[in-house]
Amino acid sequence: MLRFLWCCFLGVMFAPALAAEKIESVRIWPSPDSTRVVFDVSGKAQYRLLSQNRQTVELEIANILSPSLGKMSGESELVKDIKVKKLPGNRGILLQVELTRAAREKAFTLPPSDRYGHRLVLDLADVQAEQAAATPPPPRSQRAGGRDIVIAIDAGHGGHDPGAVGPKGTYEKHVTMAVSEKLQALINKEPGFKAVLTRTSDYYIYPSKRPDLARNKQADLLVSVHADAVTNRKAHGASVWVLSLRRATTEVGRMLEQTEQHSELLGGVAEVIKDSANERYLAQTVLDLSMNHSMTTGFEVARRVLAEMGRVTHLHKKEPQAASLGVLKAPDIPSILVETGYISNPTEEQKLKSASHQQKLANAIFRALKQHFTDTPPADSWLAQRQGAAPVNRTTAQNTPARTATTTNPGSSANTARQQPASQQRPAPVIAGPRVATSAASGPAVHTVKRGETLSGLAKQYGLPMSVLRNHNKLKSDNIQVGQVLRIPN
Ligand SMILES: [Zn+2]
Repeated sequence: MLRFLWCCFLGVMFAPALAAEKIESVRIWPSPDSTRVVFDVSGKAQYRLLSQNRQTVELEIANILSPSLGKMSGESELVKDIKVKKLPGNRGILLQVELTRAAREKAFTLPPSDRYGHRLVLDLADVQAEQAAATPPPPRSQRAGGRDIVIAIDAGHGGHDPGAVGPKGTYEKHVTMAVSEKLQALINKEPGFKAVLTRTSDYYIYPSKRPDLARNKQADLLVSVHADAVTNRKAHGASVWVLSLRRATTEVGRMLEQTEQHSELLGGVAEVIKDSANERYLAQTVLDLSMNHSMTTGFEVARRVLAEMGRVTHLHKKEPQAASLGVLKAPDIPSILVETGYISNPTEEQKLKSASHQQKLANAIFRALKQHFTDTPPADSWLAQRQGAAPVNRTTAQNTPARTATTTNPGSSANTARQQPASQQRPAPVIAGPRVATSAASGPAVHTVKRGETLSGLAKQYGLPMSVLRNHNKLKSDNIQVGQVLRIPN
């Protein structure tokens, strides 16, 4: 009897707990190559993902009994319909997400956050869009007498990710988009420049995918736009971040491990080299050269952006900051991340929301980029060729590796290299084909001193005695300044 009662007691305790939840709303967040469907649930969903065929994705939820979806918002070309029905015997509900075409699905739950409660998330990767994105990029846009300088602008966050939220409810994703669009307009008005956006409206892209989009557009520079937030509401001002040497080195190592990427990096050269040890050496050389160029350029651009932003807003940090952030990970594309201000600061939130302040920020970033590329244009650019037949700054040109068209699809890389040798993609590659190695060995190498670097550290980094580095640069002491350019002997 006692045992029977105990069972009843347990039944009373657990049965309602398992069935009490319900779906409160459904939010659909589309992006060009995937769609996220978020089910807002009153408690943690106990679900099972059943993929029947690629056109319908089914989710069984055991602890929801009511076949209702609540309020629906958003729409996606990929999602045709969402149906819900009761499973027999009070076993819960079945969600059927009907798709217009094949997708790869992934489901997971998210615990409550400051903005949302329990969520069941269904991510649908659009297979067709992914394949389209992986096709080789078209040749660089050409003007008579040289190509455009391509700036990839990345408006931070988007879609289901609002970024930081200000005390008055301003979303970072809207500020970043507004500044990015203003910057894009300024760049596109400038002869010899072209701006591309990583996201063109309010959808989400994983931070780590954003550099791939920039690479696909053969960008000379990636500028990611953000706004900061901290709990201290007094914090205010802008800062600019660059890729950390540590992260860059890690990424170079990672790219080297992916041997299928070598032919992408090397373009036509990979076809000539049959020996894989040599190919690895060459890939390493190209990447190191590329990384050196990217980091020097990124730092230089960051300094100029800070100088210009300092004229229109308070600076939180006056020097570029190094970080290992999702979007700052490409060792081969000079990248900066601009924190336009603290959205968590009530006064700054007000400013970041205003179109006139957004325009001032965009103007400042634009002035800095224009100065940089006017001083050191890529040798095959229209700008360089307009300035005279020879590149303005020999050092920079030497250090600027000709980036070949790359693709993110490893399977097609060999074909890409075969069809489009590096030398045909650009009219005047600075470093083409097997000359890479010799240029690296004989060209003058320079190093722009970054924050925290010492002469002894740099000597170690380049494998040189400190005295050689000191004498080569005619230094009177071992003190070096941030931004100082050192010549590195061969
Ligand atoms: Zn952000």
